[in-house]
Amino acid sequence: MNAYLESVIKHVQEKYATEPEFVQTVEEVLSSLEPVISLHPEYEKADLLSRMVEPERMFTFRVCWEADDGTWHTNTGWRCQFNGAIGPYKGGLRFQKNVYPGIMKFLGFEQVFKNSLTGLPIGGGKGGSDFDPAGKSDAEIMRFCQSFMQALYRYIGPDVDVPAGDMGVGAREIGYLYGEYRRLKGAFENGVITGKGFSYGGSLVRPEATGYGAVYYLENVLKHFGEDIKGKTIACAGFGNVTWGICKKAAQLGAKVVTLSGPDGYIYDPNGVTTEKKIDYLLEMRASGRNRVQDYADNFPGVEFFPGEKPWNVKVDICMPSAMQNDVHLEQAKQIAANGIKYYIEVANMPTTNDALKFLMEQPGIVVAPSKAVNAGGVATSALEMAQNSERLVWTEEEVDKQLHQIMNTIYQMSVDAAETYGLGYNLVAGANIAGFQRVADAMMAQGIF
Ligand code: GLU
Repeated sequence: MNAYLESVIKHVQEKYATEPEFVQTVEEVLSSLEPVISLHPEYEKADLLSRMVEPERMFTFRVCWEADDGTWHTNTGWRCQFNGAIGPYKGGLRFQKNVYPGIMKFLGFEQVFKNSLTGLPIGGGKGGSDFDPAGKSDAEIMRFCQSFMQALYRYIGPDVDVPAGDMGVGAREIGYLYGEYRRLKGAFENGVITGKGFSYGGSLVRPEATGYGAVYYLENVLKHFGEDIKGKTIACAGFGNVTWGICKKAAQLGAKVVTLSGPDGYIYDPNGVTTEKKIDYLLEMRASGRNRVQDYADNFPGVEFFPGEKPWNVKVDICMPSAMQNDVHLEQAKQIAANGIKYYIEVANMPTTNDALKFLMEQPGIVVAPSKAVNAGGVATSALEMAQNSERLVWTEEEVDKQLHQIMNTIYQMSVDAAETYGLGYNLVAGANIAGFQRVADAMMAQGIF
């Protein structure tokens, strides 16, 4: 490997040894930049990579809130403003028990490249809290969100940093967060946050956008191999907003999602999550706060539930891991290959461990697509929401969907072209990293060293 690249990776491995998820994403992204770095000595001269792996700034703040029983609780909040070279920081907020700086930084780093790939003017950021939303009442969620925003509001703004949802932060939380921001600022600056309800500035198609975008990207891959999505079976993980969008679009196009998963196991539905009733039920499952996928099997006949297992041993045409980071390990990757699955389309952020990803990419019969390209439709539609907010306009569903579709086609094509330009063949993973890097690198070089 190029000595400069190697030294930056080593530096991150040593400096952030206690943040393994961040080290993992840096290793993955930087190692695919090898041909670019070798061809452009100016990047090494400006030590561009050391600056790229260091967040511009990251805040830690205290979030205190009162439970319904009158007890007081204290959590930690973070916002990582990773890179603002091409636009205001943009990225979601994650509320989950396991959140810590390593998760914030891995997500922030991925976001920089993802947002760059969309071609829209958005920098990369991420935030969240180690607050566990499971089992909390609506009033507790509201008080927590209000307290969180009281700390965060001074660091964000429509031209500064624009948060959105992620795991544990959906439309309800966004509403409470925005309400508190508006109260504190005394202004209707709704471009400060995306994923809003339609009545106060949300964009049509935003709820479906990540899932729809993933399927639009998948269609591009299938087309490359002369195949059609119609009739294909898909294994998904999770049952949240992203998986819901995939089920909906796949069903519209004649494909079927046959697995869903949760912390309790996975379900196999041989008929597919294809009817309106089943697709809507996913929303109910999420809203219930029970976080149990078994409910789906209990509710629909002919569906099997496998407690404590993951769906990666099921024979399907396409795998779309759409739950969370490091869901697919080497063992599961080997199972996927043994099942003869041709399309491995990542959807969740970093759902594959690096050794599993390497293994899958080395299999001649498997096509791997990376999450930072596949799931970029969500944040891209957030940028369309920002555009509507600043124009004080509302675009039609057709208009937003058309733009989303176009953006996904462009992301795919840019990735294919970038890999080809650097002699890597049809490599969607390296192509996405290179294309995402290029735009941020150009902007950083142009803006001088800081
Ligand atoms: N959390 C989503 C992501 O990972 C959406 C971010 C946004 O819309 O800003 O891209």
